Amino acid sequence: ATQEVNYQEAKSYADSVYKTVLKRNPNEPLFHQAVKEILDSLVPVLAKHPKYIKNNILERMVEPERAVFFRVPWVDDNGDIQVNRGFRIQFNSAIGPYKGGLRFHPSVDASTIKFLGFEQIFKNSLTGQPIGGGKGGSDFDPKGKSDMEVMRFAQSFMTELYRHIGPDIDVPAGDIGVGGREIGYMFGQYKRIRGGNEAGVLTGKGLLYGGSLTRTEATGYGCVYFVNEMLKWKGQSFEGRTVVVSGSGNVSIYAIEKAQQLGAKVIACSDSNGYIYDEDGIDLRTVKRLKEVERKRISEYVKEHRNAIYVEDCSGIWSLPCDIALPCATQNEIDEKAAALLVENGVIAVGEGANMPSTLEAIEVFLQGNVLFGPAKAANAGGVAVSALEMSQNSMRLAWSFEEVDAKLHAIMTNIFVRSMQAAEEYGHPGNLVVGANIAGFTKVADAMIAQGVI
Ligand code: GLU
Repeated sequence: ATQEVNYQEAKSYADSVYKTVLKRNPNEPLFHQAVKEILDSLVPVLAKHPKYIKNNILERMVEPERAVFFRVPWVDDNGDIQVNRGFRIQFNSAIGPYKGGLRFHPSVDASTIKFLGFEQIFKNSLTGQPIGGGKGGSDFDPKGKSDMEVMRFAQSFMTELYRHIGPDIDVPAGDIGVGGREIGYMFGQYKRIRGGNEAGVLTGKGLLYGGSLTRTEATGYGCVYFVNEMLKWKGQSFEGRTVVVSGSGNVSIYAIEKAQQLGAKVIACSDSNGYIYDEDGIDLRTVKRLKEVERKRISEYVKEHRNAIYVEDCSGIWSLPCDIALPCATQNEIDEKAAALLVENGVIAVGEGANMPSTLEAIEVFLQGNVLFGPAKAANAGGVAVSALEMSQNSMRLAWSFEEVDAKLHAIMTNIFVRSMQAAEEYGHPGNLVVGANIAGFTKVADAMIAQGVI
C-alpha cells in the first residue's frame, strides 16, 4: 500500500515537472520529447527514493546551469558578410566539466541544442567517466562551403565561444557537420586567442596535435559493441545477419565497418537526400572515399557499383527487410510507421547510433514487438566515452595505442549494457534498456547533486 502511495506521488511530481518544462520552454518540441522520455522512466526510482522528490532534483535537472546564444559573423568567398547563430548550453556539471559536441546544421535551434544537451547528461554519466553534460552548435551549413569559408566561420565561432570553455570548464567536440576539419580550425583559433596549448579544451582533435586513436571510430564501433551485447544475451550474434545502417557520416561508416568485421552483411546506408541498396553488401571503401575525402552525395555510389540502386527518399531505407537496424543519421528518423514496418519485416535488434533517432511512439512499437532495443544514451555513448579518454591522455601528456583505447571502449560499452540491464531489473522493467539506461544515468548525477548542496 505504501508503495502505491509513493508511486502516485512520484507520478504527480514527474508530471508537474513536465508541465513546468512545457511552460518555461514553449515551442521546443524536441526538448519536450527528450524530457518526457526521461521523466516517464524515472517514476519507479522516485517512488522508491523520496530523497529525489524532497530535493526537487528533477526541476533542477531540467533547467540548464547556463546557456549562451551568440552572433557568428563571417565573410564568404564573394566577400559578402554572412551571419549565423551560435549556441552553447552548459546543462549539468555535477560529475565533471560540461562535455558534448557541437552541431553545425541548418536545423539547429535552441530546442535542438537543449534536447541534445539534456540527453548528454545521462549518456555521459553512463560512460562511468567524470564528465558533465553540454552541447552547442550553429545553424551554419558546411555543405557546399569551401574550406576557407568553413575556416572563417569556425574562427569566428571560436572567437566568441573561447571565453566560455576550457579543459576543466567545458570541453566541446564534434557532432553532425563538425569533424576533424572543423575541430582543427577551432582548436587553432582557441590556441591563438589563449596564447597557450590547452590540448584538453576540445576532443576529436587530429592525431598530429593531441587527438586520440580510435576517437573517429568510437561512436560507430561502440554502437555495434553494444548491440552485440544485446544479441549475446539472447544467444545470437552479428554473424550472417542482414543490417541496415542509416546515414553515411562518421557514426554510420564505423558502425558499418565493425558490423562487417563481425560477419554481418550491411545492405544499405543513406544521406539526407536518399539511400543506396546493395544486395552484394555495401563496399565501405567507396563510401569512405565519397564521404570522407570527396565530400560527395551517396547517390554517386551507384555509378561505381552497377548492382546497387539509389532511391531518392532517405526515410524509405526502413522499408528494407533486415535483422538489425542501426539508425545513425538524425533525430526522429524512425517514426511509428517505420518502426511497425521494421517489426513486421522481422527486425530482431535496433541500436541507436544517432541521438534520439526514434520517436516516443516508435520506441513503444519496438518494445511491444519484443525487439532488442538499444537506446541512444547507451548505444551511442562510445564517442563521448573515448572523448573522455582523449581528455585523460591530454592531461597525462601521453598517447595510448589503438588497441588500448579500443579495449577500453569495448569494456565501457559492456559495462553500460550490464548496468542498464541491472537497473531495469531492479526497478521492475527487466530487459527494458530505455528505462534501465535512463535510471542508471540519472542516479549518479542526482546523488552527486545532492552531495554538493543546493546546486
Ligand atoms: N556528439 C557526440 C555525442 O552526441 C560526442 C560528444 C563528445 O565527444 O563530446 O555524444
